[in-house]
Amino acid sequence: MSVYLHHEDLPQGVLADGPVAVDTETMGLITPRDRLCLLQISDGGGDEHLVKFGVNSDYAAPNLRAILADPNRVKLYHFARFDLAAIEHYIGVTAAPIFCTKIASKLTRTYTDRHGLKELVREMLGSEISKQQQSSDWGAPELSSAQQDYAASDVRFLHKLQALFVERLEREGRSEIAQACFDFLPHRAKLDLMGWDENDIFSHMS
Ligand code: MN
Repeated sequence: MSVYLHHEDLPQGVLADGPVAVDTETMGLITPRDRLCLLQISDGGGDEHLVKFGVNSDYAAPNLRAILADPNRVKLYHFARFDLAAIEHYIGVTAAPIFCTKIASKLTRTYTDRHGLKELVREMLGSEISKQQQSSDWGAPELSSAQQDYAASDVRFLHKLQALFVERLEREGRSEIAQACFDFLPHRAKLDLMGWDENDIFSHMS
């Protein structure tokens, strides 16, 4: 169970087949302005891989790109909308098919409005993750061990959460609508990048 830090790309052959958990860290919340600094990826086997991009990166990352673009590999995210936009904008691939634990949570845990990853991991898996490093300088030339641990923990639990949410969605009869939401996410991310991020085109309001 280790955390591996790589630069500019993932080495070949470090991930087993099957779904991969994916997360990103950026310089901020405005995707075209705030560059992609780190992409975390895990096959659920216990290791996490962090791919760090330098300030002048060309984001070529051929090994990573192949995995993200692979239509046979489901990508697990927590709040996929943000990560998809960052990956689309910087790496230039649509990282689908998708399972988003935040959407699954909103569709099943209707008894609460707390859908953060920390809360899901606590309630559903009985583990604790720290969010202390969330707002830190991900563009720093060297990432601290606290940053690396935090970044890795954001992909560490997504496979287990997915398995539980598949059951919950099934139980509540919401698997089909969840899948439809997941399938729409790449378009939702593109709308964000096109400027329809705050303005909800489904809303009656202007
Ligand atoms: Mn994160």
